[in-house]
Amino acid sequence: MWPELSPVYLAWLGGLLGLMVGSFLNVVIHRLPLIMQAQWARDCAELTGESTAGFTPAKSGLPLPTLEFVSLSLSQPRSRCPHCKHTLAWHENIPVLSYVLLRGKCSACGQAYGLRYPLVELFTGVLFYGCVLRWGASYTALAWCGFLAALLTLALIDWDSTLLPDEITLPLLWAGLIAAALQINPGVSLVHAFWGAVGGYMSLWLVYHAFKLITGKEGMGYGDFKLFAALGAWLGWTALLPMILLASVSGAVVGLVLKYRARLRDGAYLPFGPFLAASALLMMVWGPVDMLRDLGLAL
Ligand SMILES: [Zn+2]
Repeated sequence: MWPELSPVYLAWLGGLLGLMVGSFLNVVIHRLPLIMQAQWARDCAELTGESTAGFTPAKSGLPLPTLEFVSLSLSQPRSRCPHCKHTLAWHENIPVLSYVLLRGKCSACGQAYGLRYPLVELFTGVLFYGCVLRWGASYTALAWCGFLAALLTLALIDWDSTLLPDEITLPLLWAGLIAAALQINPGVSLVHAFWGAVGGYMSLWLVYHAFKLITGKEGMGYGDFKLFAALGAWLGWTALLPMILLASVSGAVVGLVLKYRARLRDGAYLPFGPFLAASALLMMVWGPVDMLRDLGLAL
């Protein structure tokens, strides 16, 4: 049916797919928090009996014109320049290539696009390349590509807005359990995945309530529990301890650096999601058992 393709050639195809998926992830990362906030604003308006039409961004604190604020979705309107709203032609919307050809600027208003757009596309491409190179053209590779795409999206949304949308964390959790049940996730049995999910949620839930009891402050959000539960479902319970150690240490270091450089306001909240995501990626490459041993914590 399929011509015999070399593994490296297949991996390049995977990488190409990753570039296109990365382009879509940019849209999700940019729009999903806005859609969620618009939904909350609508819910609030409904509760207080105000009409939705009268609910302006000024009341919700959103930097968006009213019309756009009400009608935004993942597919509508089409991709546009964030500065002048010029709708991108297909040749201005090719992952990475368009950015290079347009020298990172809008063809209509000349304002620079952020370097993050092509970097997200490129990074997704690299992740997909790696998955296909390791697992070939298989359901396993597809599953891990999906996992990493969701993880990258969550990390950046959390970094931008300190939100971890249920729309991504909960399906990711279920997908991890299903991948284990269907045995397309090598190395993680359903039992490992199940206890990974339970342990992931419970451990952070306990830390959260202990922290709140002692300091009276909230150190993280419920989104973090759900994300950690999803990571446990995908990587198994044995990955939980090294992941949380790595995420806590790297989070504390980055927090201190930001505070020292006065980039983090007093009492501001450094999102934990990006650090959990990064430690999960390391775990995929390094492996939980090796990691514990290398950290000198081998059982
Ligand atoms: Zn423009």
